Amino acid sequence: MVHFVGAGPGAPDLITLRGDRLIREADVVIYAGSLVNPALLEGRKADCAVYNSAEMTLTQVFQVMCQAEAEGKTTVRLHTGDPSLYGAVREQMDLLETAGIAYDSTPGVSSLFAAAASLNLEYTLPGQSQSVIITRMEGRTSVPEAEGIESFASHRAAMVIFLSAGMTDQLAARLLAGGYGEDTPAAIVYKASWPEEKRFLCTVGTLADTARDKGITRTALILVGDVVAQKDYARSRLYAAEFETAYRKATGAEGNPVPPRRENKE
Ligand code: SAH
Repeated sequence: MVHFVGAGPGAPDLITLRGDRLIREADVVIYAGSLVNPALLEGRKADCAVYNSAEMTLTQVFQVMCQAEAEGKTTVRLHTGDPSLYGAVREQMDLLETAGIAYDSTPGVSSLFAAAASLNLEYTLPGQSQSVIITRMEGRTSVPEAEGIESFASHRAAMVIFLSAGMTDQLAARLLAGGYGEDTPAAIVYKASWPEEKRFLCTVGTLADTARDKGITRTALILVGDVVAQKDYARSRLYAAEFETAYRKATGAEGNPVPPRRENKE
């Protein structure tokens, strides 16, 4: 059996309980060494074999999985963040299917959420954006033409751009071409949740200079959109005093002079 596991964004305590258990039980761990924190492997069994996929090809990864399976062993394939985003997991799963090897997936905290946490940021601010566009610039992997940065920029939704920290000149030019103003809020979050995490608030106009001045070329996310400033938003309806929900009567007035009831009071 092969378990695909999301390692989370970097901090060892941001893996799920299930992911951590699977690592502790594994006979073989293949981890994405470029981004997965090796501290996550500390709880592994003494005889667990560890492979760094950064130094391997797809075929070699598959061979290790097949060998483990033939020996009746359990493999954890540890991917950074959540495996479903830029994880190249499907191609591995398809090979496993052809070999008749069972597999399953355990989600992880994507760096897109770790970056938001590091800025205490809410992507879906009422009155500003209720959508998040997750995308990347074209690199060795192409991006379908209909998913160009320009066309996404035209939505004015919150944008999280992966795998593009080394291309901020081009990225900024394309955001501007898509209709964003130079003063549109932006942020660069480098190694979110790692001890060496860095975050820089800037604008689309200053994005490229900021990345250059701070020496950020990789392992960073770029956030773009009005929500990045976390200002000038509308309050939620869910907690509005005059809004009734299945759990709470409307009071009609803003604010509530009676303190809310504590559920676990002695
Ligand atoms: N599956 C991962 C993404 C893998 S692609 C996830 O869910 O986060 C690798 C890219 O993710 C990097 O180039 C960078 O853009 C981003 N990334 C991964 N970890 C990061 C982190 N801790 N902080 C900022 N960006 C990160």
